Amino acid sequence: MATFLCRECNLVFEDNHRIKKEYHDYIFGPCQKYIAYCPECKGECSEKPEPKPGKAKKGLQTKCETSACQGPACSRFQ
Ligand SMILES: [Zn+2]
Repeated sequence: MATFLCRECNLVFEDNHRIKKEYHDYIFGPCQKYIAYCPECKGECSEKPEPKPGKAKKGLQTKCETSACQGPACSRFQ
């Protein structure tokens, strides 16, 4: 059982029918993830990120929210 989050409905739901989707990430290249379809809006949803105690990535954010971000050199981090 996997938990998914619909950002449109702000709905968390569980789904057994994980659909593997391959996509091309702007930074990392070819990737795959599991998706499910929202029971409310039928939209495509990604797995809900589970915060794992002890594995939290602190201070590892190397990217701001702008599409033109240059990573650690981005002016927002200066
Ligand atoms: Zn939805």
